[in-house]
Amino acid sequence: MGLCLVLNAGSSSIKFQVLEPGADGTLRRLWRGTIEGLGTAPRFSARDEAGDAAPGRAWDRAGLDHEHATLFLLDWIAGHLAGRSLQAVGHRVVHGGSDFVEAVRVDDRVMARLEALVPLAPLHQPHNLAPIRHIRAHAPELPQIVAFDTAFHHGQPEVARAFALPARITEAGVRRYGFHGLSYAYVAGRLAEVAPEIAQGRVVVAHLGSGASLCALRAGRSVASTMGFSALDGLPMGTRSGSLDPAVIFHLIRAFGMTPDEAERMLYNESGLLGVSGLSNDMRRLREAAPAHDGARRAIDLFVYRILREVGSLTAALGGLDGLVFTAGIGENDAATRAAVIEGLGWAGFRLDPDAKAAGGPRLTRSGGPSAWVIATDEECVIARETMRLAG
Ligand code: ADP
Repeated sequence: MGLCLVLNAGSSSIKFQVLEPGADGTLRRLWRGTIEGLGTAPRFSARDEAGDAAPGRAWDRAGLDHEHATLFLLDWIAGHLAGRSLQAVGHRVVHGGSDFVEAVRVDDRVMARLEALVPLAPLHQPHNLAPIRHIRAHAPELPQIVAFDTAFHHGQPEVARAFALPARITEAGVRRYGFHGLSYAYVAGRLAEVAPEIAQGRVVVAHLGSGASLCALRAGRSVASTMGFSALDGLPMGTRSGSLDPAVIFHLIRAFGMTPDEAERMLYNESGLLGVSGLSNDMRRLREAAPAHDGARRAIDLFVYRILREVGSLTAALGGLDGLVFTAGIGENDAATRAAVIEGLGWAGFRLDPDAKAAGGPRLTRSGGPSAWVIATDEECVIARETMRLAG
């Protein structure tokens, strides 16, 4: 069986993994790496299965555009396959609109429909699509599959998806889509293995990374999420504000004289943990600084408070809560955030198990009440599985 390349392309970086599917459905990760600093100071790095670094490479600012970065990666990977070949490429695409309810193989028609979704995610979608176009031009025989951050949420009830806007605006696609779906799909699958009795019930998954959202699962299916029309909604994140009163945006434009682009940049890039703390978007930095830094403490407190408020909201949507799962960078690693959230949910019957941390999880609570878990996410695994399924 050939190998699978997974690409996750953003505005300034392209992350990749090369995976070998086993006959038993397992995936072996042969290489993982990234080109970062596109548009500023591009640099390439990669690690093999054992975690050993391959020789890196750097370019000057103009030395490597997105197209050449994709081609460099294809070339580099071709030179590191030890005689094997790529069978297919899977891409992470942020927006599948209302049409794409699962991963799909790319052809001309699919490509046109993906381009038509750019206005729904103008900051992300174009970067996701660029490498697909470049690979189609340079290696047209290589099957390409796209997996969406939105697709996992397509079965949410209509009432969870609609804004209270005039019907014609809703019909034009202005409604809640939900994101981080690849992560939620993976976590829901793992939860069914780790805690099958909980997985069949009412669960909130907290994906707390540099982007952060919560998803309410009933029997493993998404019924509501904190991210809505865009990935700006819901919880505060590393640099994103999360939800705010929409009138704040009018006020920024009228009273602060911001253009819509400036307001957008502030809400996406200068807010969240970074904006509140005035220090960093990185939870590790904030934790180190918090004992002596008011801003860092305020940022962490606000992050936890908003998680608690939103868990309450999703619990109401679910009609109760049987389990809570933490995942992604902060969710998997920051025991203090997990403990604050679990303690804040004492009203719902959660009881932190002080020994659970030492045991390394995955269960974090005492037996008896609803339970909290930590499960490491793996979005690339979901993309690779879908890619191998659709590439035949
Ligand atoms: P993304 O994949 O969206 O870039 P991640 O899931 O890697 O984001 O999460 C990044 C966040 O996780 C950062 O805020 C980072 O500080 C936090 N993080 C990573 N490791 C730790 C750790 N050991 N303790 C606390 N926070 C951590």
